[in-house]
Amino acid sequence: MELTGEEKERQLKAYLELLKHPSISATGEGIRETSQLLRELMESLGVSSSIVETAGHPVVYGEYSVGGSSTLLIYNHYDVQPVDPLEEWTSDPFSAEVRGGRVYARGASDNKGTLVARLFGSVKAVREGKVNLKFLYEGEEEIGSPNLSSFVEANSGKLKANGVLMEGSSLDHRGRPLIVLGVKGLLYVQLDISTGERDLHSSNAPIVYNPAWEMIRVLSTLVEDGKVKIPGFYDKVRPLNEREREMLKDYDVSPEELMGSLRVERLRFDDPQRLREALFGEPTCTIDGIVSGYIGKGSKTVVPHKASVKMDFRLVPDQDPKEVLQLLRAHLNRVGFKGTLTEMGLERPMRTSPDTRLVRALEESAREVYGKNPVLVPNSAGTQPMGLFVELLGVKEVASAIGVGDPNSNAHAPNESIELDNFFKAVEHTSSFIKWYSSNVY
Ligand SMILES: [Zn+2]
Repeated sequence: MELTGEEKERQLKAYLELLKHPSISATGEGIRETSQLLRELMESLGVSSSIVETAGHPVVYGEYSVGGSSTLLIYNHYDVQPVDPLEEWTSDPFSAEVRGGRVYARGASDNKGTLVARLFGSVKAVREGKVNLKFLYEGEEEIGSPNLSSFVEANSGKLKANGVLMEGSSLDHRGRPLIVLGVKGLLYVQLDISTGERDLHSSNAPIVYNPAWEMIRVLSTLVEDGKVKIPGFYDKVRPLNEREREMLKDYDVSPEELMGSLRVERLRFDDPQRLREALFGEPTCTIDGIVSGYIGKGSKTVVPHKASVKMDFRLVPDQDPKEVLQLLRAHLNRVGFKGTLTEMGLERPMRTSPDTRLVRALEESAREVYGKNPVLVPNSAGTQPMGLFVELLGVKEVASAIGVGDPNSNAHAPNESIELDNFFKAVEHTSSFIKWYSSNVY
């Protein structure tokens, strides 16, 4: 299903227009306008759509029914991460500049590129197919999907589908499409310690508590040599099985390539298979940010009055984020933490079967469009709300696939970008996928 010049022009125009609308879920900037714009785009393609309010930012929902016997639910999100540090961007993050064959913008890869490519590609194929389409575009993915599960629960009848195509995939270091069969889970928390109302002259240091030292003491009990020290943390971890370890061998990125794309000088392991198994199979505890006291220009002798840390735990099957939160709470009590712990997001980890009609159709279509075998991984290294679709809709066929990003896409970072050609490839991949999924060859 080669695209015509006219089709490409229309698709690119829609994509760039969406990128020019900020939709930062953390601040709410541009969310309303972008949801409207998206709804208009869907309507213009024949998708009957609506903006559905939630307790937070709205969901944009659409249906394209052809009276088929199967239904696919396509999930994407229209919100984006904040843009700072702005000074590190070469062009304005919302100007959607095309340079050297790449599109630069916040959301270029995560997730507007994928959203638009899959919308156009699926609608094009479904006109000839036998599969009904449902589209769920969330506006709060980048802040941990606080209202998605209640939305899915409240609309479980309407959302009923045979398969769910999640976002969160990309092309690998060899330009091969990744098919991701599951997700890591997440627990996000903030720790705060407060010892008074204001920073004090540091001559008071002998007689007052310093919250920065206290925070460091507590944090140092959480991780040692890359291992999480919270008792019970690893109890539910399901190790990768033989087939999953084999699968990962296809993800044959070298340590050098990884260091190049991550722009780091060292990795924690030298052995490539060890790296892969850690990336996809190990849970982590990460300090995302830490602040206390004075770190401005020059010197200032103070005892800070508060210290704060944001942390995430990436979890693997079968860890339960709620249980991990309890374990963390118990651990903090044990080590005498005298601050507050605030939970800021929970997502379940999961892995699904590679032996489904959905995954086979993804593999066949990937070969057809890219001329290469796709790479399957048992779960993503990151997180997305895949688990709740399986749980609340009872869907068995689910995967993250068909993404426009590549290892240099800088999602969440300055100068986010994609290869423009990969945008059109994703449109074609989606069309071909719908065709394979519709056919009864399985
Ligand atoms: Zn993201």
